[in-house]
Amino acid sequence: MKIAIASGKGGTGKSSVAINLSYLLLEDGINVNLLDCDVEEPNCHLFLNNNITFEKETAAEVIIPKINSDLCIACRKCAEFCKFKAQTVFKISNKIEHLFFSELCHSCGGCFLVCPQKAISKSCREIGKIKEKHVDLLSYPLLKLIYGELNIMEAKSPPLIQKVKEFAGKISEEDKGNREDKNNGDGKTVTIIDAPPGTSCPALAAIDGCDLILLVTEPTVFGVNDLELAADMVDSLNIPYKIIINKSDDNDNLVEKFIKKKNVEILAKIPNEKNYAKAYSRGEIMVQTYPEIKKYYQPIMDYIKKQV
Ligand code: SF4
Ligand code: SF4
Repeated sequence: MKIAIASGKGGTGKSSVAINLSYLLLEDGINVNLLDCDVEEPNCHLFLNNNITFEKETAAEVIIPKINSDLCIACRKCAEFCKFKAQTVFKISNKIEHLFFSELCHSCGGCFLVCPQKAISKSCREIGKIKEKHVDLLSYPLLKLIYGELNIMEAKSPPLIQKVKEFAGKISEEDKGNREDKNNGDGKTVTIIDAPPGTSCPALAAIDGCDLILLVTEPTVFGVNDLELAADMVDSLNIPYKIIINKSDDNDNLVEKFIKKKNVEILAKIPNEKNYAKAYSRGEIMVQTYPEIKKYYQPIMDYIKKQV
């Protein structure tokens, strides 16, 4: 089962929910692949670094065109085909100039196909890193943390997010049957995706293909406004979703009004407590430091366990 933790705005507590949920699933004997898809500023590892038993780094590359100017006849078919204006061709005093803007290229591969001279071949460009870490938090199931780190100055994060998900998919396949569930022997695995905030391409890339979205919001006017946008995004993908109110307080009615309108369920309310925030800022797993928080996560756990 793949569950994305998403939100319309930053700072609602997505990473906190993703980490605490991962911990509780492990406690219940369920293996977890935690994917930090907030590749512009991944932070889940900050809560888990003390328990790493294995780590590996892989370069994430995208395909880009490489032009053989000896074969090019300046027909401009490649430039006309490219909807992203990533290349242009012109002639100056009979000399052919081919300009390529790698940061605009979406690696669609179209220009390779339209070139009548077969003057375009495939080359690669590194856009970031994929990091895999094994985390030994408890004596039974293992948490695998997989996250992307976008290179500095890199403009587009969706390709890296897709690569993180593909990488995790391969690992899950390799793991099938290998993972041992010492608790009850059924070896189930849940994938938790910490999605980037917002409702644009990076968020869509992260939640696409998930079985369930948990939309984390806070009871503020901004929070509810961005929750509405996020709910519309999830509706457009036709994925079931539930709401989690983080920093829940006397203003929850702001969210509740929206929930009634949308006819969607609030699965959990996590109270606004200074101590919980302090534990988070110290890089602690909140349910470990304050086990009483587990009761707020119980409805989420019950729901997931029913689905798994
Ligand atoms: S691969 Fe696609 S996006 Fe990139 S330059 Fe070629 S046509 Fe444009
Ligand atoms: S399509 Fe091929 S031959 Fe035509 S301008 Fe582009 S690279 Fe040159």
